[in-house]
Amino acid sequence: MTPTQPPLRIDAGRCTACGLCLASCPVQALALPSSGAVQVSAACIACGACLDSCPEQALSLPPGPAAARPSAPPDCWIWGQHQDGRWHPVVAELIALAATLFPPQAITVLAAGAPHQATVLAGDLGGLPLARLLWVEHPDLHPHRDGAVAEALTAVLSTQRPAILLAGATDRGRALMPRLAALLATGLTADCTALTLDPASGELLQTRPAFGGNILATIRTAQARPQMATVRSALFPAPSPRPGAPAPAVQRISAASAADPVRLLERRALAASAGAIAETSIVVAGGRGLGSAAAFDRLRILARRLGGAVAASRSAVEAGWADETMQVGQTGRSIHPRLYIAIGISGAVQHLAGIAGAHCVVAINHDPLAPIIQRADHVLIGDGQTLVEAWLERLPEVGQ
Ligand code: FAD
Repeated sequence: MTPTQPPLRIDAGRCTACGLCLASCPVQALALPSSGAVQVSAACIACGACLDSCPEQALSLPPGPAAARPSAPPDCWIWGQHQDGRWHPVVAELIALAATLFPPQAITVLAAGAPHQATVLAGDLGGLPLARLLWVEHPDLHPHRDGAVAEALTAVLSTQRPAILLAGATDRGRALMPRLAALLATGLTADCTALTLDPASGELLQTRPAFGGNILATIRTAQARPQMATVRSALFPAPSPRPGAPAPAVQRISAASAADPVRLLERRALAASAGAIAETSIVVAGGRGLGSAAAFDRLRILARRLGGAVAASRSAVEAGWADETMQVGQTGRSIHPRLYIAIGISGAVQHLAGIAGAHCVVAINHDPLAPIIQRADHVLIGDGQTLVEAWLERLPEVGQ
């Protein structure tokens, strides 16, 4: 008996074996042999989902009655932020969040980097609810070169147009996602604190604080695709990968180039707390009321013992007690820790703008009428330095 001929035709003369079509096939009917053109198996359902993915137009379906084209099942892609061979924690958080909306087979992590990094990183996703890691690779694709990464990812996103693309609202997510949104001519909702699906339309409902945190706005992307959002980190619990659990399938796509007008000259690590305040769940912040640089140093110890990071008001930064990367507020960082402890901070409106997303605020101040008291969930009236010392006495050094 002759096996049934798959309906999809592949023009071997045109196929460059780039592999772009593989990821577009909803039934995994396409395969890339070690040499030669892409091959199609009898699993092909002639849905046509792969046709537009081929830059060389090497794929075609025979003319005739329109093939059954099931509407593409909704899928959710997550930008996989990684550095030094490790995923950023927000990647696991976003996978967990996506798994509340979609089945694992609809969830893809999309990441870019050098070819040798993919296997190890895929292993670190073992046991998490996702179908595959789509790895866009080039030997010179450095994750910090946003221009090159954006071009490489856009080449894939523009052919496959997933329904949703999420990224962490980290510094790098905030740099990359606007580029992608512009290149893909779609919208972007930044700094979301909640995501749900509209039960009627299936559209992504993207909720974020607006107007200094006074209202929660829910935004939808009605027409353009993908629906893109950045989501604040540390809002959703991250599932731990299970060591030894099977890694998701890795699909590799070669990036055409890693050219970027920006040259990376050098990388320097920030001071330990800088950058951390946006991503940690406990932040201890000091203001002018602390009185001195020495008192601010004691605050750093307290933050460390609590397992958090130290932040500052603008006055404390201007006094030289903290560097500007630690400033919280309108002209500093917006943070959303589970616990924010403000010591000797008055709570000016510009400062409060940066903690609109904080879950629980504790204010330590000697003035019961300070504005921060109105924002606080718990208040301690007294001298800041004295309270910090009393706290340090009772809180042993980590590891003791
Ligand atoms: P202060 O306002 O001087 O308050 C000190 C507090 O410490 C007081 O409440 C006092 O009661 C208390 N205190 C004093 N002694 C003690 C003690 N011994 N024990 C306990 N408590 C004590 N500010 C920011 O923080 N972030 C920003 O991003 C920011 N952006 C700004 C942008 C613009 C355009 C402008 C105009 C201002 C901005 N500011 C910002 C500045 C802001 O308006 C305030 O001046 C600043 O936040 C005040 O810092 P502070 O609370 O440490 O100091």
